[in-house]
Amino acid sequence: MNAARWSIGALVIVAAALFALYFVTPSMDGWPVADTDHSPAEGQVTITFLGTSTVLVSDGRTHLLTDGYFSRISIPGLFSRMAPNEERIERALSQAGIDRLDAIPVLHTHFDHVMDSGIVAQRTGAQLLGSSSAAMAASGSGLDKSRITTVQTHHPYRFGDFTLTFVPASHVPLPGLIEKWTGKGEITEPVTPPDWIGAWEEGQSYGLVVEHPRARILIQGSAGMQPGELDRYQADYALVATASLGKQSEAYKDAYFKETVAAVGAHTIIPVHWDNFFTELTENVPPLPWVMDNLEDSFQALARRHQGPFRVLRPFQTLALEAPAVDKAP
Ligand SMILES: [Zn+2]
Repeated sequence: MNAARWSIGALVIVAAALFALYFVTPSMDGWPVADTDHSPAEGQVTITFLGTSTVLVSDGRTHLLTDGYFSRISIPGLFSRMAPNEERIERALSQAGIDRLDAIPVLHTHFDHVMDSGIVAQRTGAQLLGSSSAAMAASGSGLDKSRITTVQTHHPYRFGDFTLTFVPASHVPLPGLIEKWTGKGEITEPVTPPDWIGAWEEGQSYGLVVEHPRARILIQGSAGMQPGELDRYQADYALVATASLGKQSEAYKDAYFKETVAAVGAHTIIPVHWDNFFTELTENVPPLPWVMDNLEDSFQALARRHQGPFRVLRPFQTLALEAPAVDKAP
């Protein structure tokens, strides 16, 4: 009886501690922010960060949006059947000034990437591009087959003056139980929400190289990589996921920096997927709670290894990019 009481007591204390830690949010203070004061010149390429690895890339004529996840299901919501939150999607699109999109490249198919992609494609007239798993998720959202492209890696897809190339990557390693719960396999049947979290399995993860005469960008949707895959590409801006990076070994952090930022020769790092995506997207969205990600460690993992600027872009902020200077030596 006493032992049982002790165990229950201990469990309550652990649960309470974890609950309390959820409200411990790392500080963003001290991290340099991107200079978003300049409005873009005609035809200049801009990026707008919209939480997780959702990024709007535009040259004023052609508009691309990676992933497009705006539902941002709460943590308790993850334990029941989940469905896109149409109101949040509507609000975020309107706040970001998005009414028409040309393409939605999907970087992998966990819920926090692909869950809303099909709906956003429907609303904006975009072509959705991604893995066979992304195709299954999108067709479950009711998106017509003609609007879905199952991509080949290292193959150029053209939209206006943009060329998109999907490069094989890996997902950041997660604790075994979380990996099992969120699904590491392929999606083999259309996902029709509401459905359980595990329905949105990872599928293939990608890095996306976005090339334009006036900008070169890498967007890495999860803090993982495949050795050598990005070596043949060049990008000036590396928009790289940092969630869970701080929890990896120093060797892993070395490899992530080398195989992404360094591989493409980026002069500027802009972290993505650092925000608390269990809350609605706002300009002041907090970083992931400390129990899930130590922002300081995750940002430092890249900032310490990089010679050039490391700049934070807050949600809904738009940065006008500088055109490529000279190509790196072959
Ligand atoms: Zn994921």
